[in-house]
Amino acid sequence: MDFSFTKKEEEFRLELRTWLENNLPAGWLEGNRKLPEEVDEYSDFLRKWQNTLYEGGWAAIAWPKKYGGRDATLMEEIVYQQEMVRVKAPPLVNYIGLHMVAPTLMQIGTEEQKEQYINKILTGEEVWSQGYSEPNAGSDLSAIQTSAVKSGDRWIINGQKVWTSFGHLADRCFLLVRTSHQEKKHKGITVFLLDMNQPGVETKPIVQMDGEQEFNEVYLTDAVAYDTDMVGELDEGWRVMIALLMHERTGIGAQLFTLEQQFDELVALTKELRLNGQPMLKDPFIRQKMVSIYIRFRGSLLNYYRHLTKTLKDGQPGAEGSMDKLMVSELTKELFGFAMSIQGHQGVLWKEDALVNSSWQEKFLQSFGMTIGGGTSEVLRNTIGERILGLPKDLGR
Ligand SMILES: Cc1cc2nc3c(=O)[nH]c(=O)nc-3n(C[C@H](O)[C@H](O)[C@H](O)COP(=O)(O)OP(=O)(O)OC[C@H]3O[C@@H](n4cnc5c(N)ncnc54)[C@H](O)[C@@H]3O)c2cc1C
Repeated sequence: MDFSFTKKEEEFRLELRTWLENNLPAGWLEGNRKLPEEVDEYSDFLRKWQNTLYEGGWAAIAWPKKYGGRDATLMEEIVYQQEMVRVKAPPLVNYIGLHMVAPTLMQIGTEEQKEQYINKILTGEEVWSQGYSEPNAGSDLSAIQTSAVKSGDRWIINGQKVWTSFGHLADRCFLLVRTSHQEKKHKGITVFLLDMNQPGVETKPIVQMDGEQEFNEVYLTDAVAYDTDMVGELDEGWRVMIALLMHERTGIGAQLFTLEQQFDELVALTKELRLNGQPMLKDPFIRQKMVSIYIRFRGSLLNYYRHLTKTLKDGQPGAEGSMDKLMVSELTKELFGFAMSIQGHQGVLWKEDALVNSSWQEKFLQSFGMTIGGGTSEVLRNTIGERILGLPKDLGR
């Protein structure tokens, strides 16, 4: 494949770059990138940013034009991701809506669901969460116990979800529930599009080890959904669940571009820190380790390009997204672990006490979550073994 950019693609880059210069929040490009700490202000700030992207036609460029996207080509997608990472653009509060729920609805949803939800996802008017995991069901999602029981024209939902990212900010949840008990556990599961702004839904934030609160416990007590909120067939939600997971893993692969930038920052750090009277980067051991990370990063990037090409041809992502997700999360953890270790005993210092910049410590702590959310590394290795390499199934299942 040829990954050099054509004149048209460079024009596209310039158009986006100019738009970003004119539309990023005030002071952002100059380095003032602090997000509001108070929950409502944080939510307003990020919803406003997504709406700005929407107004400019930059919220979901890979989507088909009929849904408000740009039908972007593979190379435009790559340029887009590179430019967003370059300016360290604010995070997408509706990441789950844009990159997971909407593509799944385009694939499987009813015309009414597409009509009702997709545009509000694009504008940022409605923020989405994903309600899969439960206290006793994570890697093995077929063990979910949250139930939906039909009563008249309603489905009454009871149970508990956990680790629900953005749950405290979300208006709606892509919810996995048990609708019947059958011999095979993955049968009898159904997906509902749940309105989170109702009395039967209670959200309790969980404090992470870095002190942030990004995910939640969600308690469902006689929460209500309707037939029109069901995605796919009754009791056949497993297929719908997998379709959304594929989109989730593919999106995570795009974080390779962020990893590239973090590698450049690591190079700068090893020039700044000193060892035996010279910049650390000159030390053979340090260089060897960095080259090892970089080689695996480049290999993963090429693999990601290959997968992106296939996704654009097939119209939907394949199992290869598991490879992207596994590589980017494991490499990120390794990169930050290394950045911490070269700071010696000062690597454990935090916030204003940190030797250079506390973001190394913060991102190191966050990197563990990356290897768990969206499927753990162990489970992804099983998927790669079974679905890509054609190896026999995991004996435990
Ligand atoms: C940052 C973050 C965000 C998240 N966001 C969401 C969200 O928005 N919505 C949501 O529903 N969930 C979310 N999750 C939950 C996530 O999907 C689960 O944590 C994950 O699927 C693992 O499930 P578990 O925590 O129950 O661990 P378990 O499944 O209990 O796994 C425990 C350990 O056993 C290993 N293991 C399990 N099964 C196997 C196997 N078959 N072979 C080999 N090893 C195995 C695992 O790899 C792991 O090391 C998030 C998690 C994180 C960290």
